[in-house]
Amino acid sequence: MQLSVPTLILADVYVLLLVALLMLFAWRSGRREATLGYLSLCLFLGVASTLLGALRNLGIDYVPIVLGNALLLLAVAFNWTAMRVFAGRQPHWPGIFAGPALWAGLCLLPAFYGSLNARIDVLSVLTIAYVGVAMGELWRSRQAIRVSLRPALVLMAIHVVVYAFRIPLDQGQPFEATGRFNYFALVIFETMLYAVGIAFVTLAMVRERAELEYRQASLSDPLTGIGNRRAFIEHGERLLRRCREAGQAVTLLLCDLDHFKRLNDTLGHKAGDHALIGFCEVMKYRMRRKDVFGRIGGEEFACLLADAEAKVAHDIAERIRGGFADLPFSQSGMLSVSIGVSDTLRAGYDLDRLLSEADRALYQAKAAGRNCIRIAD
Ligand code: GH3
Ligand code: MG
Ligand code: MG
Repeated sequence: MQLSVPTLILADVYVLLLVALLMLFAWRSGRREATLGYLSLCLFLGVASTLLGALRNLGIDYVPIVLGNALLLLAVAFNWTAMRVFAGRQPHWPGIFAGPALWAGLCLLPAFYGSLNARIDVLSVLTIAYVGVAMGELWRSRQAIRVSLRPALVLMAIHVVVYAFRIPLDQGQPFEATGRFNYFALVIFETMLYAVGIAFVTLAMVRERAELEYRQASLSDPLTGIGNRRAFIEHGERLLRRCREAGQAVTLLLCDLDHFKRLNDTLGHKAGDHALIGFCEVMKYRMRRKDVFGRIGGEEFACLLADAEAKVAHDIAERIRGGFADLPFSQSGMLSVSIGVSDTLRAGYDLDRLLSEADRALYQAKAAGRNCIRIAD
């Protein structure tokens, strides 16, 4: 394989600049995701460093060796920062500048500056360290990140391996058209592919996470943090399907807070919000993992109890009613809830029918003076 270094450098500058601009636009459009901003910075630094490196072709050494490689290390540090920020942490500024500073410091030593092998070794080790830490950031937070990390990790692992082999294999004749295999050319080539790859993989991770967040937002109620009507229907239908196949009964509790408008009017909207949050707290302790619970209207909540008949569910409903009335700030006697109950024995495994029968039972509970439970008959 013959890779010409000057041609590669030209391609490198062109490709890196293109991707850097792309990342810059991706960062500026939308939500200014910091990950893309740092990645764009990383790529621009890569371009600057490659351009400085090309000066060696003109016989200029000191600036490309010291400044060019310091910028290269800074680029790798910002690659790490992009991953770190994606994993939800703040940039680590001392860590970002530690590598380039160490490099510049070592270059002040004539023995180090004069030894090509020592320079290659230190550059490779520092690059591996930054990329390794970046992999660690993603890996440590893999549970919280929730998007597919494998492409990024594989790319970074390849990058680490290429730089690890640089230590024994790069004989340091970068600009000579030697007949034998030139490992440095491979390093430039792989670095270019890595930059392109990591840019697109990161873009994909950022998009995937944004989609997850939009989906989460479309399914949850911002005030109480529980599922909204859409989530309740989606999860509820799944629960009904599962229980029908298992031959288990399901009971629906439809809960509506009593005289809620009056509470808002007398104690204020904030107190009303607190009551809604308090009700969800009460519910959380009564629900099992397999049940489905959601806020399906302003002060209306529904829960599907898996594998429970109406009589058992009545006890649970009773505890919910009592628990809500016992909330600390309900001393004024203003907090109460009415509950309508329906079950699959009568309504079948049809969510609409369950809801309309529970609604009828709820109406009866309201008519009976509120703060009570009625089962659909
Ligand atoms: P009933 O006992 O018959 O259920 O009477 P009610 O006052 O509870 O029922 P109504 O449907 O007349 O009023 C519901 C009120 O719930 C009206 C609305 O202002 C209030 N509400 C809806 N969503 C919210 C919310 O997010 N926060 C607060 N504080 N109030 C809300
Ligand atoms: Mg009400
Ligand atoms: Mg209501």
